[in-house]
Amino acid sequence: MIPFNKPYLTGKETDYITDAVASGKISGNGKYTKMCQDFFEKKFGFKKTLLTTSCTDALEMAAILINLEEGDEVIMPSYTFVSTSNAFVLRGAKIVFADSLPNHPNMDCSKLESLITPNTKAIVPVHYAGVSCDMDVIMELAKAHNLFVVEDAAQAIDSYYTGKDGIKKALGSIGHLAAFSFHETKNIISGEGGMLAINDEQFIDRAEIIWEKGTNRSAFFRGEVDKYGWVDIGSSFLPSEIIAAFLWAQLENLEKIQSVRKSHWENYKIQLENWAKSNEIELPLIPNYATNNGHMFFIKCKNVEQRTQIINKLKEKNTHPVFHYISLHSSPYYSDKHDGRILPNTDNFTDTLLRLPLFYELDVQTVINQIVE
Ligand SMILES: *Cc1c(COP(=O)(O)O)cnc(C)c1O
Repeated sequence: MIPFNKPYLTGKETDYITDAVASGKISGNGKYTKMCQDFFEKKFGFKKTLLTTSCTDALEMAAILINLEEGDEVIMPSYTFVSTSNAFVLRGAKIVFADSLPNHPNMDCSKLESLITPNTKAIVPVHYAGVSCDMDVIMELAKAHNLFVVEDAAQAIDSYYTGKDGIKKALGSIGHLAAFSFHETKNIISGEGGMLAINDEQFIDRAEIIWEKGTNRSAFFRGEVDKYGWVDIGSSFLPSEIIAAFLWAQLENLEKIQSVRKSHWENYKIQLENWAKSNEIELPLIPNYATNNGHMFFIKCKNVEQRTQIINKLKEKNTHPVFHYISLHSSPYYSDKHDGRILPNTDNFTDTLLRLPLFYELDVQTVINQIVE
């Protein structure tokens, strides 16, 4: 059986968990949390990071940090996971869904400006499959209209964007804030887990407070204040040291994990080229400004019937590809709140996008042979 995903363990996870447990400090913000946060800040150039219990939590922290008020509008793609929008809906925001590009689920940045109104407060680009949105366009619009940019970088660890200035920047280091996921379906995992990256310094102190249930406990432990108490709203967003210890074992192997995943991706891309062409199927394109982080290999089928046929045929061979999001603008929860605009590219991906198995221990050649057969 070839599943869609299989979590990869480096072998050190339980050693570090044992160490964390033996240290007597298993709540959050301890040694392993700091090691992980330092690693991310140094390697990817985020100004400050905070581990969270999920990417969903990191997005909720971002929505609190930008002080959303009832009626504020937030622009984001419709082809995304529910948490991208739910985090902002929890604070009373109205979601303005943008259509995808014709050839990629990422937002069509050339159409964003027409969605901006005096009520717009933020843009939330989602780097689908770890492929960057056109961040120059987004950051220029944000500057011109005084908006915040919160990157949903859940799938985008170790992926980059090179803008007009020619500088290669890590995804998640460009927007004011960014959210990452370490859910077991992502490249680097801790079961459930996530991280908020803070690039605009004005948010750092308050983010720590929101993270620690609305208290200034972090400052207290650093000796900056002599008692701690309730100073703002917040929640319990920090993971235990057990989670951080697991994550550390993964981070030590980041390069290895990434190179194996990327090589599977390249194999799919090269070996499926002719098959795709002769079946009117599109393979993923990486724009010049973006990189591939080996998160996901998706194909765009001719139509929903062809996709169903491919899924069924592969299932007969015991291989399990899966489709992905059902557009949020037509979801049971949001369809009557959506402004009614038709988003044809988004709907097209709902019907035609198919994700092929991609995980560290995958026998990619077998899947390729099955597909071509
Ligand atoms: C996985 C994912 C999330 C949610 O991540 P969790 O860590 O499970 O909360 C949010 N947005 C996108 C685009 C994702 O792929």
